[in-house]
Amino acid sequence: MMNISVIGAGTMGNGIAHVFAQNGFTVNLIDVNAGQLEKAIQTIQKNFDRQIAKGSATEEQKKNALDHLTTFTDMAQGVKDAELIVEAATENIDLKLNIFKQLDSLAPAHAVLATNTSSISITRIAAVTKRASQVIGMHFMNPVPVMKLVEIINGYATSQTVTDTIVALSKQLGKVPCVVNDYPGFIANRILMPMINEAVYSLYEGIAGVNEIDTIMKLGMAHPMGPLQLADFIGLDTCHAILNVLFEGFGNPKYAPCPLLTNMVTAGYLGVKTGEGFYKYSKDSKDLIVSERFR
Ligand code: NAD
Repeated sequence: MMNISVIGAGTMGNGIAHVFAQNGFTVNLIDVNAGQLEKAIQTIQKNFDRQIAKGSATEEQKKNALDHLTTFTDMAQGVKDAELIVEAATENIDLKLNIFKQLDSLAPAHAVLATNTSSISITRIAAVTKRASQVIGMHFMNPVPVMKLVEIINGYATSQTVTDTIVALSKQLGKVPCVVNDYPGFIANRILMPMINEAVYSLYEGIAGVNEIDTIMKLGMAHPMGPLQLADFIGLDTCHAILNVLFEGFGNPKYAPCPLLTNMVTAGYLGVKTGEGFYKYSKDSKDLIVSERFR
């Protein structure tokens, strides 16, 4: 079975390792932080237990998956036999360019180098390697074991053979692949982020409150979550950074982040991860409570 290396064992990396291991692939999970690797294995075990309880995985699958999963802090060791590498390290361009330069010299010449980036240009990442035709975007959604979509992004130089391989592989994972071209925000964030920004603008301009905006989009458009709640979940800093990628990439002011979003990010109100964004979050309650600032 194919040998896969996953770089980065955070939120996305542990999920990506989980789905590959669950589907019988040999997985090398690599992180610079040994603590993150330990945490990732615990998360994978917990997520398997949840799947087993729901009947979507078996004890045997869990055991097989964990037997096929090895962790590494040394990238050279972790990628030396890889046929596919999926990079899911922190969203930082210099960090990713550096990782891809290293991968190009450490990974076997035939290996495909994929990135799970949400917003960085695949073409730019590919350009630091000597194998641009073998570099591709493989954009999983959070939480990876649950979400069906894989947005596959062709860089300017990605070969059709590599795209076909990644499409087939995504299907083997039980996912639904959609192939798009490499322009700012790809498709998912190109459409999602302006919607979130427009929701923030509607609040900023006093057209409606947090509850009204989210309820209209939930009940009116059958979205499972309103755009402001979704922004809190994604992280307002992440939304802000992706809007700036669209703004700079297209040079079009329609993508400029709303000044309210900029203020919230600057002040550290980043949503779920800091306990407050458009809503206030507490460990004691699962109720959705609008932040006092917007009442
Ligand atoms: P995260 O912060 O949870 O995890 C990143 C991990 O990368 C950390 O464990 C960190 O120690 C590790 N890392 C940093 N530098 C490294 C290096 N040089 N080598 C190996 N590991 C390194 O981040 P995340 O949310 O899992 O995001 C990872 C990638 O996935 C980003 O590119 C992000 O844009 C993308 N993404 C995130 C989401 C999401 O909802 N969180 C969704 C889709 C795509």
